[in-house]
Amino acid sequence: MTRTGYVWETTYGWADLGTGPMMPAHAAAGIQPITHHVAHPDTKRRMHELISASGLIDSLTPVRARPATREDILRVHDEDYYERIAAQSLLPKGGDAGDGETSFGHGGLDIALLAAGGALTAVDAVVSGAVENCYALVNPPGHHAERSIGRGYCIFGNASVAAAYARERLGVPRVAIVDWDVHHGNGTQDIFWDRDDVLNISVHQNRCFPTDSGFAEERGAGAGQGFSINVPLPPGGGMGAYEYAFDTVVTPALRRYRPELIIVASGFDASIMDPLARMMLRAADYGTLTRKVMDVAAEVSGGRLVCVQEGGYNPFYLPFCGLKVVEELAGITSGVDDAFAETLSGKGGEELMPHEREAVDHAVRLAGL
Ligand code: ZN
Repeated sequence: MTRTGYVWETTYGWADLGTGPMMPAHAAAGIQPITHHVAHPDTKRRMHELISASGLIDSLTPVRARPATREDILRVHDEDYYERIAAQSLLPKGGDAGDGETSFGHGGLDIALLAAGGALTAVDAVVSGAVENCYALVNPPGHHAERSIGRGYCIFGNASVAAAYARERLGVPRVAIVDWDVHHGNGTQDIFWDRDDVLNISVHQNRCFPTDSGFAEERGAGAGQGFSINVPLPPGGGMGAYEYAFDTVVTPALRRYRPELIIVASGFDASIMDPLARMMLRAADYGTLTRKVMDVAAEVSGGRLVCVQEGGYNPFYLPFCGLKVVEELAGITSGVDDAFAETLSGKGGEELMPHEREAVDHAVRLAGL
């Protein structure tokens, strides 16, 4: 038994997004079909294979995902939405979760349930004390899925399903979600908007996706007032901006809230190599962000930390970013370094710029930190 659990299931790599490049192919619109959708699961499968080939997997405790139940999903999604996904999943070619860009194949429901279930079993493993922390490398991702509509390649809000389960089934009083995916965690925000038992912090590229949410002024409502925290960073930000955002918003907000469990919505699309955003993080930076969250977890949640995979679209670089996070969680160096580090060195973007500082300071003020 080692301190870090790890979830990966083969069928996560079988999610079928169809033949569109990043939206459905459409001859009249000139959108050609292609073999690899931008969110093709191979990118995440390659992360699993690097964790495996590097030998790191031997130092992790395997955690097998169970499929989430209908009841697990209905804690955070509407029944009508669930039934619609279930019905479309029976169709020969599957369906779409809602925005026309979140297609899934025949039987897609089963893979989506196993993704949410991977987050659940990770939470079970950590809350029971079987492991101290856990990386759930699940797919499809979840943080764009709202209560009643799937968006942005997300069907069910995996991290949200896990947070609600921790609250309602495991009796964890306070859960915090830290979302470092480069896109706004709009789905998580929608689900917990009026609740104070789940603190939701999203650090993302300003107006990347969705373009109409994730502003610092969005802070929750009713009982949830102040429990949604958004840190939109200007495009082009690197570790300087992220470090400043984590040190002045994420860490102080977690210290103030004192969650008994921290869930990281872990996307790797803020990397300098990602095609779907314009930020500048390197693999090592993800290790540093992990360390920052682990340090607060050690202070407030007895180290209890679960990372749930979100986005990330560069098949060459994402595996190195993911490896750094899992190495940090496990406190083990696999010996495999970022193969792109030299190529990426000297590209700049690492220092905190005045306009980035201003954006973060604005979020600090609104969060009352
Ligand atoms: Zn993303």
